[in-house]
Amino acid sequence: MLSQDYIQLEEKFGAHNYHPLDVVIDRAEGVWVYDVEGKKYLDCLAAYSAVNQGHCHPKIIKVLKEQAEKVTLTSRAFRNNQLPLLCKELCELTGYETVLPMNSGAEAVETALKAARKWGYKTKGVKDNAAEIIACTNNFAGRTITVISFSTEDQYRDGFGPFTPGFKIIPYGDAKELEKAITKNTVAFIVEPVQGEGGVVVPPEGYLKETYEICKKNNVLFIADEIQSGLGRTGKLFAYEYEGIKPDMVIIGKALSGGCYPVSAVLSMKEVLGVFKPGDHGSTFGGNPLGAAVARESIKVLVEENLIENSFKLGEYFRERLREVQSPHVKEVRGKGLFIGVELKPEAKGARRFCEALMQKGVLCKETHENVIRFAPPLVIKKEEIDWAMERVEEVLRME
Ligand SMILES: *Cc1c(COP(=O)(O)O)cnc(C)c1O
Repeated sequence: MLSQDYIQLEEKFGAHNYHPLDVVIDRAEGVWVYDVEGKKYLDCLAAYSAVNQGHCHPKIIKVLKEQAEKVTLTSRAFRNNQLPLLCKELCELTGYETVLPMNSGAEAVETALKAARKWGYKTKGVKDNAAEIIACTNNFAGRTITVISFSTEDQYRDGFGPFTPGFKIIPYGDAKELEKAITKNTVAFIVEPVQGEGGVVVPPEGYLKETYEICKKNNVLFIADEIQSGLGRTGKLFAYEYEGIKPDMVIIGKALSGGCYPVSAVLSMKEVLGVFKPGDHGSTFGGNPLGAAVARESIKVLVEENLIENSFKLGEYFRERLREVQSPHVKEVRGKGLFIGVELKPEAKGARRFCEALMQKGVLCKETHENVIRFAPPLVIKKEEIDWAMERVEEVLRME
């Protein structure tokens, strides 16, 4: 079967909730993916930063196979010998005390929101059912009904109401707005340290520190959604480290499993996740031994192969190269580490056509927010591979 055959099948039998580039991937290794005709592409999306460790990392795949042959799922009705080690290793890596494992990112966000509300009622003393959570414009935190209840993206909400109450939205990047929005019922502020789906938006310097201090002063939990920005993507383990803060809760997912299996988690000190008692919250697959083993190896690879440092160094190089391109279309190149957004001018007629042209030349990128091209390759990328991509990116950014 050829690419066209697969595309037709998917169009015919699959729901049309995505608009993918028409590349049908058959196999992948490191930063490279191959379509069914054998053409090779450099992956500059890395599955929305879920494959930070590179596609099919041999060490992660080895653990996946070995664990799959031993035991895959116990449910939390019983214990397994992988989850405790994952929790311990995550705490040692991050400096937090408690881990709650889930599967998808959206589930982990829901978990953090539930923990924040319960903390509000049981610890802060907010009146029953009055808890408020503050989120920012242009956020992305997943697709469940509660999560889209605080989205400001019309398409994500259209046709899906009624929504979950209890959220307030403030403009991203303006700390004073947080101060104004907080009431005695505010239990948490949820924020992406760098907005990914929003177009790789880096907030003004000092924003995270200021909002963090406002939260501290008002006894409000600061929740960092690091599902995309975390685990090395921005050149630090977590993007919040750039401002020297320690959020009350951190939400991780995506690269936590190196793209091999859905694993997400919420991290906090004892006090916050400590509000959950047996039976309060759960998930059949959450904390399963296959996912836990894969996640353990994925974080080990991230650290042992110095991928965080590589992201910092090569991110600077990649941005520098992008800034040197003489293009009539580019408005701004921004980002941290290998989390890079190239914003095009409104006259450029959208980022999609540039992504399609890049695909033809063998570089896979995805537009985000109409006019931003995101460059976020696996963190195992080498300088020569960035140079290979840049030869093609330059041509495409210079086209009419
Ligand atoms: C991807 C993402 C999510 C949702 O993760 P899923 O696994 O797709 O549910 C949440 N927050 C951020 C910042 C993300 O980038």
